[in-house]
Amino acid sequence: MFMPVVNKDKCTGCGECVEVCPSEVFELQDEKSEPVNADECLGCESCIEVCESGAITVEET
Ligand code: SF4
Ligand code: SF4
Repeated sequence: MFMPVVNKDKCTGCGECVEVCPSEVFELQDEKSEPVNADECLGCESCIEVCESGAITVEET
């Protein structure tokens, strides 16, 4: 299992993680990314690479 987490203080709401995630884990809510489908995370780390703010971490649980 993987646990993607968004640091809301760093997130600019650019939406890049929403676009790149193959499992549609993220959704924008109030201009911040929310990992609404965290259970579907594959651990590919594409979201980490695409986030210029360094707002996303993905932990293996
Ligand atoms: S890519 Fe980063 S800054 Fe952009 S919406 Fe996702 S978490 Fe926020
Ligand atoms: S690690 Fe991959 S599957 Fe998991 S949230 Fe990020 S982009 Fe989506």
